[in-house]
Amino acid sequence: MQKKYDVVIMGGGLAALTLSIQLKRKKPEISILILEKRETAAATAAHKVGESTVELGSHYLREVLDLKGYLEEHELPKHGLRFFFKNNTKENIASRVELGPRERLPVPSHQLDRGTLENELIRRTREMGTVVELGCRVKDVVFSPEGNEVTYIQNKQELKATGKWSVDASGRGNVLKHKLGFKKDWDHDVNAVWWRVKGVVDIDDWTEDKTWKNKLKPGLRYLSTVHFLDEGYWFWVIPLGSKNTSLGIVADQKLHPFDTINQYTKAMEWLKKHEPLCYEKVKPYGEDEGLLDFLILKHFGHNTQRVYDATERWATTGEAGPFLDPFYSPGTDFISMNNTWLSDLILRDMAGEDIALRTLIYEQTHLSLFESWTCIYQNKYQLMGSTQIMVVKIFWDWAVYWSVLALLFTNNAFTDLKLLKELFASSNGLGRKFTALHKQMQDFFIQWKPYDTEIFSDRYIDPFDLEFLRKFQQGIDEQHGSPEKLVERVSQNLEVLEKVASEIFRHVSKHVKGTSSTMKVNPYTITLNDDSTDTQSTDALAFDEAIAKDVSIMWFYKKEQLA
Ligand SMILES: Cc1cc2nc3c(=O)[nH]c(=O)nc-3n(C[C@H](O)[C@H](O)[C@H](O)COP(=O)(O)OP(=O)(O)OC[C@H]3O[C@@H](n4cnc5c(N)ncnc54)[C@H](O)[C@@H]3O)c2cc1C
Repeated sequence: MQKKYDVVIMGGGLAALTLSIQLKRKKPEISILILEKRETAAATAAHKVGESTVELGSHYLREVLDLKGYLEEHELPKHGLRFFFKNNTKENIASRVELGPRERLPVPSHQLDRGTLENELIRRTREMGTVVELGCRVKDVVFSPEGNEVTYIQNKQELKATGKWSVDASGRGNVLKHKLGFKKDWDHDVNAVWWRVKGVVDIDDWTEDKTWKNKLKPGLRYLSTVHFLDEGYWFWVIPLGSKNTSLGIVADQKLHPFDTINQYTKAMEWLKKHEPLCYEKVKPYGEDEGLLDFLILKHFGHNTQRVYDATERWATTGEAGPFLDPFYSPGTDFISMNNTWLSDLILRDMAGEDIALRTLIYEQTHLSLFESWTCIYQNKYQLMGSTQIMVVKIFWDWAVYWSVLALLFTNNAFTDLKLLKELFASSNGLGRKFTALHKQMQDFFIQWKPYDTEIFSDRYIDPFDLEFLRKFQQGIDEQHGSPEKLVERVSQNLEVLEKVASEIFRHVSKHVKGTSSTMKVNPYTITLNDDSTDTQSTDALAFDEAIAKDVSIMWFYKKEQLA
């Protein structure tokens, strides 16, 4: 007789394993079966992408799953995201504009060797009582009120397992999307190729320039997730705890067609042309036995129409749901949010609660968050060669992420229905305003492109030199005690964002159109396309000296006079 479980998880990658640990930590007696296709333990280094974590996902792994000790001992601490922009002498890393933190960051994040991490997660979840079966390919699932029946192949035998809940965590295996047809296309034609090499690639060794080296303490640049950017692409260098290195190219199909990068030799030729120093420095690592793998993924972005179903008790998590873009390393963030919603639903259901309405609200919030995040990436690869715009955009995107999304997550807001309603459902709610402002800014960055023509060199810019950004990042872990206080903080953060948006507009508009550097600006109306930016009404914000000082730090063109 087949065994019945509370939850059967199809696929056993990061999303599956973390979900099982989250459920077990909340309810140790819950019975979980994980069916994973891979037959053996995961390989060190050459396993999967998803190696760089940012604040939200790091909080989830460290605090919610209690992996802090493991991560500090066995994976690398991360020294933020680091960007090197286009210039005329790409052969000299020291001459490129560099953006990244100088000092150690108060809010931690990690560089993960996904192979070692997944092996550890399997060990932990098994220790907690989860059954993890390797070498199992899930074929189908049939939903029934008595329990969903999952059919899978193991050792050439067709087997079945029943779970009250069935969760699709098969990543791009997309078991449920295929079965139920809820895939949704997303117009974001960007491709990726990546490979792992044996050994440590440390960009600090790429020059003898002592002044450049001394800008950071030794070893810190190495710990960053490094991006080299130019129009239509970025190239990553990520250190791994196993003393190997992950390298990858992510490129817009329109500007760098997939068939120019989709084999190792082609990727190296492409690198030689677009990033000659990177080519020269990483090539030796890929020779002889040094190349550990080479993987490709065409058109990686995808969306979904569904995430959870309370009636048939199924759900998706991780890449089996939607996937955006890896530029800011948000994959683990989406897993963290999704698993938090999903584990809450499963546990409430098991406790006998009617979860129909809650399921609907979580699904709508999830999908609308995804939608509001798409504008960060969609059509934005064309901006990657525009240094000034990208510096401002990266700071803006971080500001929004730290001040709202990460803050809400660390304060457990996503499972508070009243809060979600207040933030995202009411027509005048903060969530709506924040989405509208964010969209306005992303459109504005595109409008700015024809005017940003200068190529800059020899600059270092540290996000934490900007007071508002420093405060936003440090505020992530602050606990606000009550929903009212949290809403108050989000509201204050939105006010800062509004002032920042207005000030960015003042700077750009003065540069492009010669307008006043102290004019009033309604941030929800900013545009360079015509004169419709509201600078007169009562909604227009007055010049703010402290914010203007911060924005002037990220301004590379001739400094405008402050008031
Ligand atoms: C180019 C690129 C770079 C990225 N970089 C980052 C980053 O730096 N940071 C970050 O946080 N995220 C990053 N991501 C996202 C990250 O890779 C994903 O969020 C994460 O790996 C998804 O985990 P998952 O468990 O959903 O899928 P996976 O880890 O792919 O796990 C799915 C599992 O299901 C198994 N499976 C598939 N089909 C079946 C089946 N039929 N039956 C049984 N098992 C099955 C597979 O073997 C696999 O182990 C990146 C993504 C891309 C494309």
